Order: sequence, then structure tokens, then C-alpha cells
Amino acid sequence: MSKNSYNIIDHHYDVIVVGAGGSGLRATLGCAESGLKTACISKVFPTRSHTVAAQGGIGAALGNMGEDNWKWHMYDTVKGSDWLGDQDAIEYLCSKAPEAVIELEEYGMPFSRTDDGKIYQRPFGGHLTNNGEGAPAMRACAAADRTGHALLHTLYQQSLKNNVEFFIEYFVLDLITDDNGNCIGAVAWCLEDGSIHRFLSHQTILATGGYGRAYFSSTSAHICTGDGSAMALRQDLPLSDMEFIQFHPTGVYGAGVLITEGARGEGGYLTNSDGDRFMERYAPNAKDLASRDVVSRAMTIEINEKRGCGDNGDHVLLHLEHIDADTIHKRLPGISETAKIFAGVDLTKKPIPVLPTVHYNMGGIPTNYRTEVLRPTNDNPDNVCEGLMAVGEAACVSVHGANRLGTNSLIDLVVFGKASSETCKEKVRPNSKKIEVSKSRTEGIIDRFDKIRHSKGDSTTGELRTSMQQIMQKKCAVFRTHDLISDGINEFQEVEKSMDSIDIKDKSLIFNTDLVESLELHNLMAQSKVTLHSALNRTESRGAHAREDYQERDDKNWLVHSLAWLKDNGQVNMGSRAVHTNTLTNHVQPIPPKKRVY
Ligand SMILES: Cc1cc2nc3c(=O)[nH]c(=O)nc-3n(C[C@H](O)[C@H](O)[C@H](O)COP(=O)(O)OP(=O)(O)OC[C@H]3O[C@@H](n4cnc5c(N)ncnc54)[C@H](O)[C@@H]3O)c2cc1C
Repeated sequence: MSKNSYNIIDHHYDVIVVGAGGSGLRATLGCAESGLKTACISKVFPTRSHTVAAQGGIGAALGNMGEDNWKWHMYDTVKGSDWLGDQDAIEYLCSKAPEAVIELEEYGMPFSRTDDGKIYQRPFGGHLTNNGEGAPAMRACAAADRTGHALLHTLYQQSLKNNVEFFIEYFVLDLITDDNGNCIGAVAWCLEDGSIHRFLSHQTILATGGYGRAYFSSTSAHICTGDGSAMALRQDLPLSDMEFIQFHPTGVYGAGVLITEGARGEGGYLTNSDGDRFMERYAPNAKDLASRDVVSRAMTIEINEKRGCGDNGDHVLLHLEHIDADTIHKRLPGISETAKIFAGVDLTKKPIPVLPTVHYNMGGIPTNYRTEVLRPTNDNPDNVCEGLMAVGEAACVSVHGANRLGTNSLIDLVVFGKASSETCKEKVRPNSKKIEVSKSRTEGIIDRFDKIRHSKGDSTTGELRTSMQQIMQKKCAVFRTHDLISDGINEFQEVEKSMDSIDIKDKSLIFNTDLVESLELHNLMAQSKVTLHSALNRTESRGAHAREDYQERDDKNWLVHSLAWLKDNGQVNMGSRAVHTNTLTNHVQPIPPKKRVY
């Protein structure tokens, strides 16, 4: 088929939402409830979005099981962010969190309950009472250990009730913009019948999730390729704070599935290829139970210094075989199953191969607390790109700053998902005039798609993806130096050169997974590149960004959000934007920076 013979179908909406995870569905639902003609487009069935895998809980200071206050939640979030979070947005998040959870309850979300029928809440890392001075806060609202599952299904059911139009298994390729660079919709490829769809809309909300799959080992689903963020880059919009990647120390090697910290709580320990219990050297007191970033950094040093295990020397071992089998069956039944399925290991007999595993992307598409995407200019760092919004893990609001606290992503999804629908309600009238565009306006998008589809050569998507993931895992992981990242950038260029010679064997347009994965790889490559450059650029250590050559936090020079633009010629341009150290209202005072100790 020649490129001119694609079957192109136009659609007109007030609002389109790209993504049907927790943030996309909450945005969609809010728009539909306001009477806006809304379409939700997703490359997978909505309830297969990664949000379904979230376990631990959703953070809100309900105070159901002990004293709590949204201002304490705000304090913990600002401190957790290592002061890089925008305090106006954090105030918005934490003050709206309780009502957002009650709303979920009213939508029918099946929370676990206390004996007196209230939503059950458990403690979580970094959440304390009394402005960090008091006892752990009982703040994580949970539906057993399936909180994300319960949340996603509830929002999907509510969306159906509100007659949302879903376009399921449609892969969005790129954004459509007008002459001023404002967004007027998106182009998608229908995976089922191969048709191409132009969705024209007054507002486009990107809710496309994180890009955990840029790394070799990730707890994220394979679909977490950050497509929306790459689309923003292709529109010459910057991504913010891309150097901040959260790692969990014990993901199963290869599969990346999580092994809970509870395993080390029960007496598990890590060894390197010499059989050495290396954590004793890094953290003489806490040893294997030091905090996540400390353990992840220690593991990475062992691997980089050639004391990793296995044929490639690229992981370490987690031992539980010395623990009494009864204890394992009683206390750790879940991970026993995980180890068997994903590592083929009976953990009562053999150690589990593990690797620090990418868990969350703090960076993404910069937005304000109203979820409008920012296109910063020299005169106005908070300048807005009209027609475009971003929510969820794809966005950088920024409420997580340099480090996200557990449970703060799920609450981010619903609070800012709803905020985006409120902004849409202000900006768009129901049944607004149709936007019409010429064929030539979207020709470039189809050309790019067609070029990738007909790409020939001697590389495969799988090989190049592995090369990229290995570079990110080794050169831009928990622990960084100028030389390490520079090596990564050099090696990355080699992979980049091969991107034009990917051999797409399947030329069809129907469920062509080879082509889907290749499009996703292009998106991952763009984000990996800006991540490497952002990490090289920030010469300090803050939150998840640990530079061995600049070990201190440097508020004088670096209390700023990084911005990275990826130019058409492949160059990455770096810039910055001031952190909002002001609060939104006078209900709460700004929290001045201090040393982050727990
Ligand atoms: C294993 C695991 C456990 C976690 N546990 C917790 C927890 O307990 N508490 C917590 O707060 N956080 C947790 N997190 C983090 C949290 O779950 C995620 O950050 C959050 O769910 C992301 O939601 P989202 O709406 O941004 O995107 P996702 O849920 O990732 O959804 C992205 C959506 O975008 C669509 N999409 C993407 N690209 C395209 C495209 N090109 N075309 C069309 N559609 C597209 C996808 O189809 C999907 O519907 C966990 C994460 C993981 C991986």
C-alpha cells in the first residue's frame, strides 16, 4: 500500500484523553460528567493499564486510624521531594486528597475497612505526623494489596455509566498542532483494522503513563513506554526533571517483578559474586535494611566494580534459603510464588537473582497545578501551550520533585485527573464548533509512521531495545558520575545510528506488534536521550539523583527544575525553570529547605 492510500477517518470532540489508566479515566470521567463530548483513546484495554498493578495504597490524610492532617501530608511530600516539588501544586494535592478518596468511595471503590466501617489506612515510608517530628502516619488508604486494581475498575465502570466513548486498541502516533504550535488533537492507528484516525479536539489530555521500560529492569508493565512524553518532545516541548528515576532495590533479575522489602525484614541478605555480604561495608548498622536508595546504590557499585553475579556480572543475589521454611510460608507466601514464576527459584533452597529496579519516573511533561502543559519562554517560565494538558505519571506537575513518596502517585492520578476536567470545563463549551484541518497538516505524522513501517536493515527492535536498556541500567542508574553518564551518551549514539536500519518484517497494519514495538522503541529512545543529558547536566545530588562526583545538594545553583528539549537534529538543549516555593493559599506557609534526614 502506498502511503497515500491509508484509510483516514476524522472525528470531532470537545476533549480527547490519551490513556485509560487511573489519571486518564479520572480526567475522562470528569469531562463526561460536565457534558463535554469526550473520547478516551487507549492502546490497551483500559483495565490493563499499569495502574492495575499498584498495590500498597493511595495517600490521603483522612485520620481514620490516628490523628492526621493534610498539612502534615504536605510537609512530608515537600521533604520527600527534596524541596524540588512545586509547593503550590503540593498544597493542591494534599488538601484535595481526602475529598478525592471519599469521592472514590462514593463511586463504589471497594476499600478495606476498619471494624467501625471506615476506610482502612496503613503506614508507609516517609509519611509521618506532626511535620516530620511525630510517629508514622496511618495515611495509605488501601483495598487489600490490590488498591490500583480496585481504583481502575471503579473508574472504568463510572466512565461506562457516563457514556464515555472509548477507542480501545488505538495507538496514538502524534499530536496535531495549528500554526501557533497549539494542540488541536492527535492521530491514531487502529490496531484492529489498520485504519488511521484524526481526532480533532479543543483540548487534548495526555495520560500516557511513565517510561519505566527505558531500563533493563523495571517493575512497570511492558506498555510503559511514555509515548505521550515523546510526542511532546516531537512538538519541541521540553520535558522536566527527567534525571529523577526512582529505583527499588529488589526487582527479580530479568523480569523486574518486585520482591518486597519484607523479605529483608525477615532476615534476607544480599551477596555479590565473591559471596560477600557487601551491605555490611556500606551500612554497618542497618546493613541489608538500610533505606532503599542506600541499598540500590551499594548494589550498583558492586555490579560496576565487576563483582556482579551471573554470566554477564549484572545482578546480585538475595538469600532467604537460611530462613525456616515455615516462616517463609507464613510471612512471605506472595514472594515465594513470584520467585518461582519469574526466577524459576525455590527460595527455600536457592537465592533469588535481583537488581535495583526502576519503579517510577518523577520527570515528565511540565504542567501547572491546573494541568496545562508549559511551554516556558525566556520571559515567562510558566507560559502555557494552549490545547494541551498532561496528567499522571506522564506529567511533572511537579508534586514529587526529586523523589516520590509511596502512595502519592495514585492520589496524584485522581486529584490532577479531576483538575484537568475542571480546567477543560472552564476552557471549552460542550459541543464546541468542529475543528477542520487539511490533509497536509497531518502528512508529516503519516510520513513518519510510514517510514518506520517500511524500515529495512539488519537490526531488530528487540536487539536495539536491549542495548538501550542495558546502557540506561548501567550508565544512568541509581548512582552516577560525569564519566559514567558520558560513556552512556557515547554508547547511546551507536544504538541511535542503527534506529534507521530496523527490519520490520511484518508489513501489515493489522495487530502488527512488530511495528507497535518499534514505534514504542522510538519513543523510549527519545526519553532515554533526554534523561542521560539531564542527568549529566545536574551537578548535585538530590533525591533519586545521586552523583558521586557531586555528593551534596546544592540549593544555591540547583533548586530549579531541569528542562530538556530534543531538537530535530538530535541535539538536546538544556534549560531550567524556577521551583514554586510559594504556596497556593494562605492556609499554609511555605516550607523552607533544610537537610533531608529521616
Ligand atoms: C508494580 C507497581 C506498583 C505500584 N504501586 C503503587 C502504590 O501502591 N501506590 C502508588 O501511589 N503508586 C504505585 N505505583 C505507581 C502508580 O501505579 C503509577 O505511577 C500510576 O498507576 C500511573 O498511572 P497513569 O494513569 O499515569 O498511567 P498508566 O496506568 O500507566 O496508563 C497509561 C495509559 O496510557 C495509554 N497509552 C500509552 N501510550 C499510548 C499510545 N501511544 N496510544 C494510546 N494509548 C496510550 C495506555 O493504554 C494506558 O491506558 C506502582 C507502580 C507499579 C509499576
